Amino acid sequence: MLQRPPAEPGMSEADIDTPALIIDLDAMEGNLDRMAAFCRNAGVRLRAHAKTHKSPVIAHWQIARGAIGQCVQKPAEAEVLAWGGVSDILVSNEVVSSRKLARLAALTRMSKISLCADSAIVVDQIEAVAESFATRLTVLVEIDVSGGRCGVEPGEPATALAVRIARSRHLVFGGLQSYQGRAQHLRTEEERRDAIGQAAARTADTVAAIRKQKLECAVVGGAGTGTFAHEAASGVYNELQAGSYVFMDADYARNRPAPDFEQSLFVLSTVMSAARPGIAVLDCGHKGIAVDSGLPLIHARQDIDYVGASDEHGSLVLRSDPGSLAIGETLRLIPGHCDPTVDRYDWYVGMRGKRVECVFPVAARGMMQ
Ligand code: PLP
Ligand code: MN
Repeated sequence: MLQRPPAEPGMSEADIDTPALIIDLDAMEGNLDRMAAFCRNAGVRLRAHAKTHKSPVIAHWQIARGAIGQCVQKPAEAEVLAWGGVSDILVSNEVVSSRKLARLAALTRMSKISLCADSAIVVDQIEAVAESFATRLTVLVEIDVSGGRCGVEPGEPATALAVRIARSRHLVFGGLQSYQGRAQHLRTEEERRDAIGQAAARTADTVAAIRKQKLECAVVGGAGTGTFAHEAASGVYNELQAGSYVFMDADYARNRPAPDFEQSLFVLSTVMSAARPGIAVLDCGHKGIAVDSGLPLIHARQDIDYVGASDEHGSLVLRSDPGSLAIGETLRLIPGHCDPTVDRYDWYVGMRGKRVECVFPVAARGMMQ
């Protein structure tokens, strides 16, 4: 069952039902503009990752600023974006059931759909489904550039797979998916630069090996919020897939230097108890905010620490004036990790200052199939 919208346009922040997922629209628009300007100047395309926002509305805001399309992780997310009018979608992942592949093949009637493969078995499965739908799917070879997750070895194994895709009658060889996930949260600039330097070198070798087979990599994609400037500078990557830059989170803010984006996503939470001096309890525990990358921070209140998350309660410690938090007062929490926090809510509440400007759905919430 859907949650009731926690707010209506025109309301003030103090009247929003909590916990609620709120966006500082000025901050978010600044982030979108900054990334768009970066990509324009660097001469790379932006295919922003929708796993962060799960919303065709935000996808269209990105596209209006020049993004060429969206990435998703799951076919169900691809459906939500295609139904919302997004015309170019890359599933930046392997998809391995013929039922899911059929759903993607059906979407090709509405949008351009690409997906990734890292094995011949999956390539043949995609070909069979594309044939049965009398359509063509674009397939990228995913290579493992030390992210330690999916991906075939760069070089010869990747080239063999590219050739197999190109020879499949209903497939188009789309290029390389080369995402170095482990590098995103390496804390120093040097570590991140080195990791992406190595990834870019292995990617470049693979592009060259594939070219020897008379195939071109139209897309060489990868990069996240922690490293995108390095992929852009490499001259190897031509599509950036950053997602979290839209919202930021406390974990990305711990990178040094921190990515040049403002925190725009918050969980609004209410003080429900302040029974003893120096401590208080919020109505938002880990069911309301992700804690996998650390506990939330309190926006604009550095004198308060969020020290413990239980299911529905957040425990606060006040380091300054023990009496400075009143029951019923609301606080903005900065999530440790934006993506899974978004997935806990049905609605975004867009704030212009302290006033609710818009309320719209997290349309692909829970779309993990
Ligand atoms: N590309 C892929 C394949 C990813 O898995 C992710 C995130 O995990 C991203 C891009 C975006 O990363 P971020 O949200 O850190 O910018
Ligand atoms: Mn994430």
